[in-house]
Amino acid sequence: MKKYIYFMLLAVLFSTITTAQKPQKLNSNQIYEKVQKLNFLGTALYIAAHPDDENTRLISYLANNVKARTAYLSLTRGDGGQNLIGPEIRELLGLIRTQELLAARRIDGGEQLFTRANDFGYSKHPKETLEFWNKDKVLSDVVWAIRTFKPDVIINRFNHRTPGTTHGHHTTSAMLSVEAFDLAANKTKYTEQFEYTQPWQPQRLFFNTSAWFYRNQEEFKKATEGKLSSVDVGVYYPLKGLSNNEVASMASSQHLCQGFGRVTTRGTQQEYMEFLKGTKPKDNSDIFSGINTTWNRLKGGGAIGDILYEVEKSFDFSNPSKHLPELLNAYDRIQLLEDTHWKAIKLKQIKEIIEAAAGLYLEVSATSSSTTPNGEVVLRIEMLNRSSITTHFDSYSVLGNGTRLVRGEEKQLENNIRVHITDTIQLKNKQYSDPYWLQNKGTLGMYDVKNQLNIGKPESDRPLQVEFHLNIWEHEIWFKKDVVYRYAKRDKGEIYEPFEILPEVTTKLANKVLIFSDGNPQKVQVVVRAGINNVKGNVGLDLPSDWKVSPNEIPFSITQKGDNLTVDFMVTPPNGQSEGVLKSFATIDGNQYGKELVEINYDHIPKQSVLLDSEAKVVRLDIEKNGNYIGYIAGAGDVIPESLRQIGYNVLVIDPTEINNENLHKFDAIVLGIRAYNTVDALKFKQKFLLEYVERGGNMIVQYNTSGRRGIDVGAPYELKVSRDRVTDETAKVTILAKNHSLLNFPNKIESSDFNGWVQERGLYFPNTWGKEFTPILSMNDKGETAKEGSLLVAKHGKGYYMYTGLSFFRELPAGVSGAYKLFANMLSIGKENIKTEQEIKE
Ligand SMILES: [Zn+2]
Repeated sequence: MKKYIYFMLLAVLFSTITTAQKPQKLNSNQIYEKVQKLNFLGTALYIAAHPDDENTRLISYLANNVKARTAYLSLTRGDGGQNLIGPEIRELLGLIRTQELLAARRIDGGEQLFTRANDFGYSKHPKETLEFWNKDKVLSDVVWAIRTFKPDVIINRFNHRTPGTTHGHHTTSAMLSVEAFDLAANKTKYTEQFEYTQPWQPQRLFFNTSAWFYRNQEEFKKATEGKLSSVDVGVYYPLKGLSNNEVASMASSQHLCQGFGRVTTRGTQQEYMEFLKGTKPKDNSDIFSGINTTWNRLKGGGAIGDILYEVEKSFDFSNPSKHLPELLNAYDRIQLLEDTHWKAIKLKQIKEIIEAAAGLYLEVSATSSSTTPNGEVVLRIEMLNRSSITTHFDSYSVLGNGTRLVRGEEKQLENNIRVHITDTIQLKNKQYSDPYWLQNKGTLGMYDVKNQLNIGKPESDRPLQVEFHLNIWEHEIWFKKDVVYRYAKRDKGEIYEPFEILPEVTTKLANKVLIFSDGNPQKVQVVVRAGINNVKGNVGLDLPSDWKVSPNEIPFSITQKGDNLTVDFMVTPPNGQSEGVLKSFATIDGNQYGKELVEINYDHIPKQSVLLDSEAKVVRLDIEKNGNYIGYIAGAGDVIPESLRQIGYNVLVIDPTEINNENLHKFDAIVLGIRAYNTVDALKFKQKFLLEYVERGGNMIVQYNTSGRRGIDVGAPYELKVSRDRVTDETAKVTILAKNHSLLNFPNKIESSDFNGWVQERGLYFPNTWGKEFTPILSMNDKGETAKEGSLLVAKHGKGYYMYTGLSFFRELPAGVSGAYKLFANMLSIGKENIKTEQEIKE
């Protein structure tokens, strides 16, 4: 029995089939391609760091032309970085990118694997990367991927010998791959994995190099002359009517949140592989050269090959069911294989072929999108045999919760006569079905995953599955199907979604960061969402000890599942600076529910339901400010206006095309959004008005702009060259250079403690050359680098002040970093010492 469970786990471990889009039903061409793949027994693993690093041309070539089992091991889920299609960031962005990788693999035919490493943001060097990633754990996960996927060939995307030339995650992925290549076969390393798998030695390791890694084509040729394997990946697939490059482009175009939508290409194209380790290939145009990739590779495989090669050779595209006797014969023989690894893989593959060749339609859908851990679910089971082959439906079982319901009605499945069964299932103590790697709190660089068998999986297993027990032509065979939720929208047609197990009630704090700029109470809204019909209980807040809330609890009652109710609490901060975590929860019959439900719904990926701790950061600032009316010119997009409004500023977003020499003087300061000079063309013509405004006594704050090789003109009043200098370590020591400057003293005293608690980075694209009119205020640098003094520069210009800053205020203010607020308030207040006096006189 234990052995049986082990096979089941292995079989689902690398399953990349999601149920959200309509489950794929194969046509004759696809069945034939699956037979070809069934007859190839070679495996390739591609290794890199992020979603979009992978070379989809090569993955598609290996999966579709070579027919190899091919997987992409992405060390991270791409949690860092920006989202071009929606508001999700960090772990939720990682979830979208995970699904985009799965969507890409559904197109290019590969499988998808991960490690527990979290993409914490940019790092310049593997040393910095490995300060955040736990090297031993990530290496263990790469070893685990090799031992369980068992590749013959490993291909690295990046060069392990050139740290510092690309993202630290990239080089690290290659370095760990080189180490794991040997460790995977070592019986004394990561022995805890041997409860579930065995040591494995891949045959060879390549680096997938290209001219891109060199300065130009000639240099690439010179450096690699005679050392490379190369394959033409531009092949054409008549069965698909597509070139390999077209398949690859469609796959990488799934990375929509990164703006990877692109036009397709066709035609011959070389990919180059530098041999690094293992046994050298004799034939430089075949990465599997010298490796047995036939059925003869397995003890007892020869007879299976005899049957299946013949099916491939004589394949009948007009009637694939003709091959069922041979396929079922091979299926019986595969079950007798001693090699448990290949047995699990080949059984899964041949069952998919048998199901498709027999024209079987097997589906289980729930009548609602979710239920609760002890809830009821109504299942609609549909079965259809669209062939003339004698098929009996013996029984089915609903797997899960350790229980097994078997219905004994034996039915003959007549050609094209539908069988429908409706069944109500009562669940007992099921787990929530949210993404497994988000269930425990990890560190900045690592996800915390307790169950070894989950490590590597792209997503959680679906919570409910039904096994169909069939008898086809006197062969017992079972097919497992995930329960789906299926419905129709008038304007979209039929929609498939994953069926979920979710809490009875969830709560959500409307704002994730609550800033209190003084001691006054503020309204805090909690949205309560019903996970079942007729839910009643109380909502409450958990606060840091010196904070107060009124009332303590608010009763709620919601009639309909999915409906929301918003309740208001008044929260009073303590006197003086304080910060902490505010949590919301609901109680029903003495049980407490502290999760928030986040639903992510885009057309190109399946709907995702995530449960997060329902919490928000609360910050009581001890902050002074002068000047109130701020003009803001949006750049590439940040939430600085909302952040400033939270601490009481009046912020007006200005249309840059409407700027003239008269309409700026009313503002106490003008702030330019991030990358304004990169994205707003009108600034070219309006810069003179902005500088005139400064001359007449205004304050102008320019946030970071990116600089390419040719630099960028930000129209500063004095010499100022933006460089690519950045400080990516958010804990990097900050040295105060201009201790007595007004920016650090008025109206708030800035000290080194104000640089504690910053997030993701210090800043980016700092100027590295400036005129003597500028005063550099701060100095900082990443480890092993020279001091960077251009993070905050200020110059008096006429009667006002011009400031340029690469400090990441656009990240720090929304994250509620109090020191960043105080410094920004000083920047807005500079030169307004007198206004303060006037106000004091009035009072
Ligand atoms: Zn990358």
